[in-house]
Amino acid sequence: MSELPKQADVLIAGAGPAGLALAIELRRLGASPVLIDRRTAAANTSRAAVVHARTMEVLEAAGVAPRLLAEGVKVPTFRIRDRDEALISIDFKKLPSDYPFTLMCPQDRTERVMLDRLHELGGDAFRPAVLRSFRAAPEFVQVTVGEDAADQEIACRWLIGCDGMHSVVREQSGIPFLGSEYQESFVLADVRMDWRLSREEVSLFFSPEGLVVVAPLPDDRFRIVATADVAPETPDAAFVQKVLDARGPRSAPGRIRSVEWSSRFHIHHRVSDTPRKGRVLLCGDAAHVHSPAGGQGMNTGIQDAVLLARALAETLKDGKEARLDAWAQKRHKVAEDVVRLTDRLTRMATMKSGVGRVFRNAAIKLAGTMPAVRDAIAFRLAELNTDEDAS
Ligand SMILES: Cc1cc2nc3c(=O)[nH]c(=O)nc-3n(C[C@H](O)[C@H](O)[C@H](O)COP(=O)(O)OP(=O)(O)OC[C@H]3O[C@@H](n4cnc5c(N)ncnc54)[C@H](O)[C@@H]3O)c2cc1C
Repeated sequence: MSELPKQADVLIAGAGPAGLALAIELRRLGASPVLIDRRTAAANTSRAAVVHARTMEVLEAAGVAPRLLAEGVKVPTFRIRDRDEALISIDFKKLPSDYPFTLMCPQDRTERVMLDRLHELGGDAFRPAVLRSFRAAPEFVQVTVGEDAADQEIACRWLIGCDGMHSVVREQSGIPFLGSEYQESFVLADVRMDWRLSREEVSLFFSPEGLVVVAPLPDDRFRIVATADVAPETPDAAFVQKVLDARGPRSAPGRIRSVEWSSRFHIHHRVSDTPRKGRVLLCGDAAHVHSPAGGQGMNTGIQDAVLLARALAETLKDGKEARLDAWAQKRHKVAEDVVRLTDRLTRMATMKSGVGRVFRNAAIKLAGTMPAVRDAIAFRLAELNTDEDAS
């Protein structure tokens, strides 16, 4: 690890999507945060693949949005299906946004675009640099970074934990992470396949076997996400095919040609008790984790970060902290709403009772006949329902 400065206004632990977004926006606004990450290099897995309209809006001022557009696939429709029956179609084309679509872009590409922008603004991440511990005093936070003999000390005015679900910053602050774990695993696979439904659509299939999502990715690939009671660590083509055959369309079954990347993960639905404790603040997965249904996770984290950067840049100038409390209050509510929404979607999609499924499908189909309801769902999924200014 190269030598860190001895002091900084802002120390950001974690250079995932949240930490990168925070560092970029702070630099754009004239601050010079120190960004550290425990990994030797940026992550190269595709993980979160959905970028919603609100995220594009908050990334516009820093010049990130147009670059993301060049990297992703614009998808205008989200459709819920039960095998061959379409239950509801959510149309993003009418969103009151300059980004009336959802952008499918693998997370490693999104992070690379953000890192390039950070470099252009004169920033970078110190790697590998592990936040080991810290001591918060009224006027500053003393942080120990490094490994054993190579430990370094840095004093910062503000410490921001963007260090993911197992956040050391959150844990050492003693902030409870409230919630629990889903029983099912989630399987992710980026595949090449023959698929007869439109590439203009993200399809969510409900099934008593569990949910499956099929979404287009750049370069003629598809992302498949599915729940599974038991799944291998890296699901192969045969496993993914079986999932698709059991839950996807009967009349136009997909045929997997190859699996380019796959993973299995367990998910939790948890929200930190607060995203601020004195001079320590939390963004992204450090503050909230939930089901990938609706593709909200990374989006909410990036928005936490950009909005915090704007508040913090002002506080660095005038010392007034009330806007940080306002940020914490708003983002805590957003996180709770997102966890609720994704939990509801997940439970609805994986309903096992036959009678329950009949009622569920009838209710969704009825909602699908009401344009105002469809528009409200699109607005909500795109995360346009928050009252903060995106510019
Ligand atoms: C397999 C998988 C699939 C996923 N799929 C989806 C999906 O389909 N849709 C979706 O919305 N979300 C998905 N997610 C979640 C999504 O990836 C996260 O919401 C997103 O990455 C959160 O960004 P973040 O910056 O908050 O945290 P992270 O991306 O976790 O980044 C945290 C960073 O902090 C660093 N770090 C950790 N501890 C320390 C420390 N002590 N010191 C220094 N650095 C540290 C880590 O190295 C890492 O770079 C998936 C996650 C996984 C693991």
